[in-house]
Amino acid sequence: MEFALAPTEPCDAQSYPNMWDGSVLRAVCFDIDDTLIDFTSASRDALTAMTGRDDLWPLWDCVTEAHVAMVVAGDLDYPTMHRRRTKEFLAEIGMPVSDHDAARFERSRAAVMRSSFRVFDDVLPCLDWLRAAGVSIAAVTNASGSHQRAKLDSLGLGRFIDHVAIAGEVGAAKPDPMIFHSACAALDCEPSEAMHVGDRLRTDAIGARAAGMWGAWLNRGEQGGDAVDADSGVLRIASLAEIPELLVCEFAQLGAPEPR
Ligand SMILES: [Mg+2]
Repeated sequence: MEFALAPTEPCDAQSYPNMWDGSVLRAVCFDIDDTLIDFTSASRDALTAMTGRDDLWPLWDCVTEAHVAMVVAGDLDYPTMHRRRTKEFLAEIGMPVSDHDAARFERSRAAVMRSSFRVFDDVLPCLDWLRAAGVSIAAVTNASGSHQRAKLDSLGLGRFIDHVAIAGEVGAAKPDPMIFHSACAALDCEPSEAMHVGDRLRTDAIGARAAGMWGAWLNRGEQGGDAVDADSGVLRIASLAEIPELLVCEFAQLGAPEPR
């Protein structure tokens, strides 16, 4: 197997400022939705299939964000949130339904969505490289546990991942340092020996940095909105393909793995 991502030229110190004194990296944690798995495309396509309209995503996203916040705050569980979110959304578009019909719509929507999940193209080469380099790997998610593990397994990612940290099981959601620390403990490393990568600047990257880890914000260029705070101390990457070079630049002892 070839590892074409090993750096052949000096690293770009401007892109990857060395912010850490430590020189050991033993683990990399990843957010799941929209970091490893293209959740938004699947969810958007499922909504279009269920409603026959392609202009409803912004409203769906807004209603969902508000309801997810209640889950993160511990005010709702995920099944209740899904049903209430969908009922509120349908009412907003002039289709008020009963709790029963909202639950039925949600089950159908979720089934359509699950059938179209896909792994981003840059994921498997990155995970393969990390495995070959001897780096432990965790997934850290605020979404509910059972379906996240099933999703990882069904898409062939479970074999790469040593530990899955689930907010509902840990009792804390990102950006609470507790969930990041629980992942590090499960991987038997200190926070300073681990990086967390995710698509949400504050929830993932800044949260991980505040927990004493490396924080990397993955912005594949489709989101906009958030801007990197110069004082936030996080790294910004546009693709997971950047991770091997970034790690080799930052950690002298983490060389490019030998081909297996
Ligand atoms: Mg995410």
